[in-house]
Amino acid sequence: MVERAYAKINLTLEVVGKRDDGYHNIRSIMQTVSLCDYITVKKDESDAIIIKSDKCNIPTDKRNLVYKACESFFRAAGIKGGAIIEIKKHIPVAAGLAGGSSDAAATLRALNRLYKTGFSEDMLRKIGAIFGADVPYCISGGTALCEGIGDIITPLKPLPRMDLVISIGGEGMSTPAMYAKFDDNMQQNTIDTDGMLDAINKSDARGIAARLGNTFERICCEKRSFIIKIKSIMIQNGALGAVMSGSGPSVFGFFHDKEEAARCSKLLISKGYYAFYCNTINIANKKS
Ligand code: ATP
Repeated sequence: MVERAYAKINLTLEVVGKRDDGYHNIRSIMQTVSLCDYITVKKDESDAIIIKSDKCNIPTDKRNLVYKACESFFRAAGIKGGAIIEIKKHIPVAAGLAGGSSDAAATLRALNRLYKTGFSEDMLRKIGAIFGADVPYCISGGTALCEGIGDIITPLKPLPRMDLVISIGGEGMSTPAMYAKFDDNMQQNTIDTDGMLDAINKSDARGIAARLGNTFERICCEKRSFIIKIKSIMIQNGALGAVMSGSGPSVFGFFHDKEEAARCSKLLISKGYYAFYCNTINIANKKS
C-alpha cells in the first residue's frame, strides 16, 4: 500500500504564549502543498517494525516518527502487529515543512486501512497527538487553523489553487532555541491571523499573499541572513508575498502562475539556493 505524505506550509504562525507545562500555545493557519514523500506500508508477519529510507539523513530506528506512529497505532488498536515501511523522501528534512509529521500521519492512515481497524480521522488525530504536535493536522491536511500546541484544528474554506516556490539557503536554527529567544524578548504580535482568515473566506489570493506572517521569522533572520535574501529575490521576481515556513529555514513565495514560479525557482537555483515550485492542494489523504 502506497500513501502520499504531503508537506505543509504555514500561511501564518503566531506564538501566543508559554503554558505552565513549558509548551507554547500557537495560532497558525496551515496549508497542504503538492510536494510529497511516498510511504509504502506492508504487514510484517514476525510483528517487527522495520523502517527503510532512500535518504540517509533521517533515522530509521525508534527516533523516526513513522516508527512512533506504528507503535502508537498498534497500542491503540490492541493488535500485536508489525510493519515494513519504506520512505521515499522528497520533502527537505528539518525545514519547517513537517516532513516527519506528514510521514507519520500517512503511516497511520495506511495502517488503518491495512489492518481494517476502522478508526475515524478524529481517532487517528488523537493517536498522532501522542507523539507529534503537527501530526494531527497532517491526518487530513488542507487549509486549517491550528491552535493549542497545534492539536486543536478547525478546518477552513479551501484556498484557491496557488502556485508557489519553496527555497532553502542553509541550515536552520533549533526550534527550542527559537522558543527560548521568543520567551526572552516577547515581541509585540504583528501577525494578522484574523485578516488572513478573512482573506481565505473571500478566496482573495492577493489578500492571502499580503498577510503571510511568522513570529519566528525575525528571530531566525538575525542569524540566517539568507532568509532575507531569498525573500527579496522572490519579491523582486514577481512574488505576491513571501515568508518563512514553520520554524524554518525554508521560505515560500506565492506567484501569479506556474510559469512565473518556475522562472523564479530557476533563478534561485542559479544563485546557489535549493528551490522548487509546487502548488497548494486541498487534502492530504488523497490515495496514490
Ligand atoms: P516541523 O515543521 O513539524 O517542525 P520539520 O519540517 O522542521 O518539522 P522534519 O523534516 O519533520 O522537520 O524533521 C525534524 C527531525 O525529525 C529531523 O531531525 C529528523 O531527523 C527527525 N525525523 C524523524 N522521523 C522523520 C521522518 N520520517 N522524516 C524526516 N525527519 C524525521
